[in-house]
Amino acid sequence: MGEIVKKNLPIEKKEMTRDQAIQLFQQKGEKFKVEIIQDIPASEAITCFQHGEWLDLCKGPHVERTGEIKAFKLLSSASAYWRGDEKRDRLQRIYGTAFTSQKDLEEFLERRKQAEARDHRKLGKELDLFSTMEELGPGLILWHPKGARIRKSIEDFWRESHVKGGYEIVYTPHIANRDLWKTSGHLDFYQDSMYSPMDLDGQDYQLKPMNCPFHIQIFKTQLRSYRDFPLRWAELGTVYRYERSGVLHGLLRVRGFTQDDAHIFCRDDQLESEVAQVLDFTFSMMKTFGFSDFEVYLSTRPEKFVGTDANWEHATSALKQALESRKIKYEIDPGEGVFYGPKIDVKIRDVIGRAWQCSTIQVDFNLPNRFELEYVSDDGTRKQPIMVHRALLGSLERFFGVLVEHYAGLFPTWLAPVQARIISISEKVVPYVETILEKLKAQGVRAEADVSNEKLGSKIRSAELQKVPYMIICGQKEADQGKVSVRSKKKGDLGVMVVEDFISLITSEITNKN
Ligand code: ZN
Repeated sequence: MGEIVKKNLPIEKKEMTRDQAIQLFQQKGEKFKVEIIQDIPASEAITCFQHGEWLDLCKGPHVERTGEIKAFKLLSSASAYWRGDEKRDRLQRIYGTAFTSQKDLEEFLERRKQAEARDHRKLGKELDLFSTMEELGPGLILWHPKGARIRKSIEDFWRESHVKGGYEIVYTPHIANRDLWKTSGHLDFYQDSMYSPMDLDGQDYQLKPMNCPFHIQIFKTQLRSYRDFPLRWAELGTVYRYERSGVLHGLLRVRGFTQDDAHIFCRDDQLESEVAQVLDFTFSMMKTFGFSDFEVYLSTRPEKFVGTDANWEHATSALKQALESRKIKYEIDPGEGVFYGPKIDVKIRDVIGRAWQCSTIQVDFNLPNRFELEYVSDDGTRKQPIMVHRALLGSLERFFGVLVEHYAGLFPTWLAPVQARIISISEKVVPYVETILEKLKAQGVRAEADVSNEKLGSKIRSAELQKVPYMIICGQKEADQGKVSVRSKKKGDLGVMVVEDFISLITSEITNKN
């Protein structure tokens, strides 16, 4: 690479037809590239780039000359199945990067090192939070007790906020008669992501890939009136979707996951205020989880769509108005809406600047139509309600993965699986340690005691490695005075205080989620 850079060769773009490109790569014996070219629509031009003798398929763009590359590095290589399909050839994938200055390269490498240290799969193992295993099947998550404690805190907070926000909580089954997915249309356009049906009493049943049709069925159990709206129904609904094993990735891409789903059924005139409320809800929830930097996108009508022009115009302008009423900066993603309606996506930025897609708010003209939803309007006629799908966290699995990486495993106290660890300095203070443990537990604090015979230094190190927010150290002096010596993982040594003061410090931190 150094030599190629030194030669400062021009990089030239070559356009060719599909047939020319197929012929060229067939001659070179490049069967994978031939396959890629065959997938490109015939109407699109095929581009290659060439410098010196080297010519390869590439969409571009490129630097104009090889000499513009001032710094480069080979990063890693890994084996990967062709197109993520484990039944196909196994290839070697080589990762590398190039920059226009050494400084930029170094900054990139530093960010990358930080990201590796935060990898949720690595921390998940070290902190005993979750696992995946081949014996179980890839992409299926086992939540260990400590991971489950965090998940429970997230779920409790989520449910509580939803009830406060005017939602009703619902629960729906994991399987249903396959006819439901015929009506919803999922069998037509989503079948590749769905698992095979199972036979029950001569009927086909289907593992659910989505919760929506169930909420619709609840809607249909009664004749609804315009006065009933908005209906806001939320569910932590576990769904199963087929993903190729080659693309599965820790908690971020899995085959079974729990969406923090909700559906809002409302009238036309309520859409804007409902969306605005969901936006407020999204930002306040994300802030509680420690995210304050957002990117917002409004996706408009794609080429293939259902619904009328009037439907789309009304809904798109309602989404726009909602964003503008909240003075939210957003970008328009033209044509990136779902075929059934426009949507708003919110990405959160983590502490090292990576953006993660979590929240989505989607208007749907399709399902109300397919399921023939209606309500009695104020003039007595039957009308179709508007349906909005929304998820704030996206899925609990994925969001948890993002949280682990954002905090590098050092969770804020309200989420930490162990919030305080009480450490004894000597055998004699063990009864004292136990009374403190009971007091903390009685206040709902997730506390544990380390009364092992290990040296103090190694007990402290172990609590540090487990990223426990508070370490409470008890020696004879503390026991005699009814006090504790407190160390905060984030703020360092907080000194000696009476037990009750520590309890009020930690419980207020947990309650306020700060
Ligand atoms: Zn939905």
